[in-house]
Amino acid sequence: MAFTWQSIYRAGNSLEAHTLKGLLEHAGLRVRLTGENLGSAAGELPADVVEVMLWVPAEETAQAQQLIASYEKGNLQGWRCRGCGELNEGPFDWCWQCGADRPDD
Ligand SMILES: [Zn+2]
Repeated sequence: MAFTWQSIYRAGNSLEAHTLKGLLEHAGLRVRLTGENLGSAAGELPADVVEVMLWVPAEETAQAQQLIASYEKGNLQGWRCRGCGELNEGPFDWCWQCGADRPDD
């Protein structure tokens, strides 16, 4: 029942880590973060320089890497959903409002 966890990404800060965690979890993946708040605990480093590792179960690595790759593409401009007209964030491949797939163009 234990997963083999695979580290797939080193995030530069907690915000990025949580953004990616949300992206992967939205796609149905299980995600763990490690390393968070190490700096704060030490009382020396500001939180924004703490590196956070993302981990996923080994069998979900390929899917997770694909999602992160599309995130890293800098595909950050929003896109307009054809289904409901909602403006969505760039990294998401589906409409958060109605669940329609992102148009290809
Ligand atoms: Zn929509």
